[in-house]
Amino acid sequence: MTESALDDALLTRLKDDLLRKRGEILSASTGTRPLPASMDVNSRQGDLADQASGNNEVHIQLKLKQTDAKILQAIEEALQRMEKGTYGICRDCGDPIAPARLEAIPWTRVCITCKQKQSA
Ligand SMILES: [Zn+2]
Repeated sequence: MTESALDDALLTRLKDDLLRKRGEILSASTGTRPLPASMDVNSRQGDLADQASGNNEVHIQLKLKQTDAKILQAIEEALQRMEKGTYGICRDCGDPIAPARLEAIPWTRVCITCKQKQSA
């Protein structure tokens, strides 16, 4: 058996996690908001304005967006791998990724061993 060792229940849960995280990123990224602005948004903007401290805030948001864009891309790829049935397989060495690692980072592409090689 070369199939993924993940059972259906775990796979379903991870897919939910991926979809929810994708939703969070999409709704958090201003400017590409899929839904029309609501009263709720207006009250949030008030909160943001109170916390904002000039250019720093803009800088932080730009940085966040770059990270979010990367995660978003990884989430899309993970969902595609789920469709193909190759989810949970390390992109680099082809070994199964530990379920605990997938639960922590559902959109990860590589196993912990390869990840450690990358950052070494
Ligand atoms: Zn690997």
